[in-house]
Amino acid sequence: MTDRYAVFGNPIGHSKSPLIHSLFAAACAQDMSYEALLAPLDGFAAALRAFAEGGGRGANVTVPFKEEAFRLADSLTPRAARAGAVNTLVLEDGHILGDNTDGAGLVQDLQVNQALPLAGKAILLLGAGGASRGALAPLLAAGPCRLHIANRTAAKAADLARDFADLGPVSGGGYGELAGQGFDVVINATSASLAGELPPLPPGIFNGGALAYDMMYGRGETPFLAFARLQGASRLVDGLGMLVEQAAEAFQLWRGVRPATTPVLDHLRQG
Ligand code: NDP
Repeated sequence: MTDRYAVFGNPIGHSKSPLIHSLFAAACAQDMSYEALLAPLDGFAAALRAFAEGGGRGANVTVPFKEEAFRLADSLTPRAARAGAVNTLVLEDGHILGDNTDGAGLVQDLQVNQALPLAGKAILLLGAGGASRGALAPLLAAGPCRLHIANRTAAKAADLARDFADLGPVSGGGYGELAGQGFDVVINATSASLAGELPPLPPGIFNGGALAYDMMYGRGETPFLAFARLQGASRLVDGLGMLVEQAAEAFQLWRGVRPATTPVLDHLRQG
């Protein structure tokens, strides 16, 4: 019987996950379906229950349900427990396992697709919301020489840095503290690009050869990437690779096989 998977979100119509997973399934010869399901804002738990009772084997979770999925899970992987949010669920015999593959997807995209080893690098992470929290443990595990979090609400960045200080050299604060500091990798994990806005960055934050990464994708050059280009960043990368890599992590968890991501990424970039 065909195994059922889905992504839950609200809104969800724009999701590329059904296409990504159907390409993975075809390439790996897996008998599975994957659909996008719109859950009411106050009805995610009921929608997930109905999906599981109808034979659903696993699900992805996107905005705004990642924290609720974290609370609904019966057990969590260590990285999901750290992230405080869940984007991947395994549904098995009434048990819900919650994982978070977003940060691993980001690190895979940087280290493998972009061929940029993060060990010894100075990383600046912009934003202190869910995407930053999910990225921190995998980024620190990659061994940067330092990781600084900058956020509009400075206290949130400082709190986040404190929460992860046991995992590596991480600090946090406001944008004002960035003047005079240079970084090898600058990752925009704010939602500013969604609104066509630029976080208040000072000039001079990009070291020679620096890579600028915007987690946002599908909107062409964001204000952040335009700023990075004008400031001399050597490489500009959007978040599409992260999206495909987090999906590959989820697919592997569900199906036990790791799909190749390059053909899927090429397909999406051409489309
Ligand atoms: P949250 O709402 O949890 O956090 C938003 C963050 O952005 C906060 O730190 C907020 O600062 C900051 N922010 C918002 N507007 C501005 C602004 N104008 N200037 C400076 N900072 C601002 O969002 P998420 O963490 O869930 O998502 C962030 C982004 O990451 C989104 O664009 C999302 O699409 C993307 N993403 C991409 C993924 C991928 O696979 N490529 C996966 C997950 C997320 P403050 O605390 O001060 O309010």
